[in-house]
Amino acid sequence: MATVVLEDLRCEFGPVVAVDSINLEVPDGSFTVLLGPSGCGKTTTLNMIAGLEEATGGRILFDGGQVQHLSPDKRDIAMVFQSYALYPNRTVLENIAFPLRMRGMDKKRAGALAAEAAGRLQLSEVLGRKPRQLSGGQQQRVALARAIVRQPKVFLLDEPLSNLDAKLRNDTRVRLKQTQRDVGGTFILVTHDQMEAMSLADLLVVMNAGRIQQAGPPLELYRRPANRFVGSFVGVPSMNQVEGEIAEGAFTASGWRVPLPGAVRTGPAVLGVRAEDLVLTPTEQGGDGRVRIVERLGTETHVIVAMAHGELTARMAGDAEIEAGQGVQVGTTTNVHIFEADEDGSRV
Ligand code: ATP
Repeated sequence: MATVVLEDLRCEFGPVVAVDSINLEVPDGSFTVLLGPSGCGKTTTLNMIAGLEEATGGRILFDGGQVQHLSPDKRDIAMVFQSYALYPNRTVLENIAFPLRMRGMDKKRAGALAAEAAGRLQLSEVLGRKPRQLSGGQQQRVALARAIVRQPKVFLLDEPLSNLDAKLRNDTRVRLKQTQRDVGGTFILVTHDQMEAMSLADLLVVMNAGRIQQAGPPLELYRRPANRFVGSFVGVPSMNQVEGEIAEGAFTASGWRVPLPGAVRTGPAVLGVRAEDLVLTPTEQGGDGRVRIVERLGTETHVIVAMAHGELTARMAGDAEIEAGQGVQVGTTTNVHIFEADEDGSRV
């Protein structure tokens, strides 16, 4: 286990700044997830930590010691990729034992440790099979077992679940979290899937355009997004964002008014409001908007309302009495966010 610190870490590919001087402290024994859209620099960051990509600036520290000049094999890391990269001609047991054998451990002891790691990931039944005789989920678990068997300082995982179908993905995700708890290691995982990130992370790091937008516990990012990007990227459905104006203690957009008790400023602004913080009241006539679509999802209902300024998505109870075509008054709870209008935005 190790604390991993990134200091002004930077990576340029010619004119492209893939990672733009980021600073991050990954706590010892944490499950840290780097989340962001394609091309935001998360894989490059992971590869720099692994030593697969050279940093063009800054420092990487494991437990206070600089590692950025060390080759990957000197960093005491294990990496798990989207593709499982198993040896096709070796059995499951041999695949898992391979890193130990490479270090010169005798066959019997390596086999015993590999069998133990396989047991943690429910692979004991398939130890004698070759990778092609396994499902995708099992193959990925073999790759995970091969990573944990070495007990490295840091585990680096690059989209390890993205080749799995939805159900296997959920199962494997739960098992991955459990494995991290059991092993107690420092895990750093890269994904563009916000659900996966929310459910796995102790520390969630949202990246965009080579920069860290916000880092913290997942619920903190959900409840207090630092800017519009984090608001829209974390949480499903995406946070509603409405452009308008603050004046006289209220936010207004095309006639829709949201009181802002204690508003600290006036002028153009963006209102951010989560679907569950919209309060819809059906009206006999008129109203702020009209219900366009009602999506019944069982435990909850998503309601898309057409407003003068655009659409809003509200979350209601599974059995909410609401129908498409209805007029509605649209209110909010007090949990609304004000972002700056002219940039990515920050919280007022
Ligand atoms: P994805 O989820 O698609 O893998 P990512 O967030 O992991 O995206 P990176 O792979 O880190 O993003 O890429 C960040 C930026 O750096 C992108 O603009 C990418 O095109 C660029 N880039 C990455 N590797 C190289 C390279 N070897 N040469 C040139 N540009 C690169």
